[in-house]
Amino acid sequence: MKTAIYPGSFDPITLGHLNIIHRAAATFDRVVVAIMVNSGKKQPLFTPEERCEMARRVLCSLPNVEVTCADGLLAEYARQYEGAVIVKGLRALTDFEYELQMALTNKKINPGLETYFLAASERYTYLSSSIVKELASYGADLSEFLPQEICQTVADKVRQEDKQHE
Ligand code: ADP
Repeated sequence: MKTAIYPGSFDPITLGHLNIIHRAAATFDRVVVAIMVNSGKKQPLFTPEERCEMARRVLCSLPNVEVTCADGLLAEYARQYEGAVIVKGLRALTDFEYELQMALTNKKINPGLETYFLAASERYTYLSSSIVKELASYGADLSEFLPQEICQTVADKVRQEDKQHE
């Protein structure tokens, strides 16, 4: 069984992430969406549990996709899935430099671990979780950017956070 691990912060999961997951699920026997607890990015809006719950809500109809929270180094985490590869989405040249560095570092730590890159769909090359959070803080309609199952959850959380900082 060929497993693909799709790691990220998914804070929150967007239609761009979903596009990569659908394509990976059509190619691999199993896709493990790994919500990284310490991704090195700035303070996430959602807790790891909230991010997992949203991703599960969105992905429950895909039988070969599972969602997990992953702590620590991805290269170590991946060892539990024999023969697994990492899948990443590439949006632009800016993604490429960072992702190449990560892929090479992961291979250094775990030499058997390959990283496969999927080019972002043209429709979603501009889309990131950060952009969605910014739009949400202005009360914008999120339905073009997020799976419909989580639009309200994200809008409510951003509003609640903004209130706390007023
Ligand atoms: P973000 O940059 O949106 O916070 P994550 O850290 O959650 O993203 O990203 C996890 C993976 O998904 C990375 O490989 C990232 O390049 C990819 N990705 C993020 N947004 C998109 C998109 N719109 N289209 C394709 N891939 C994406």
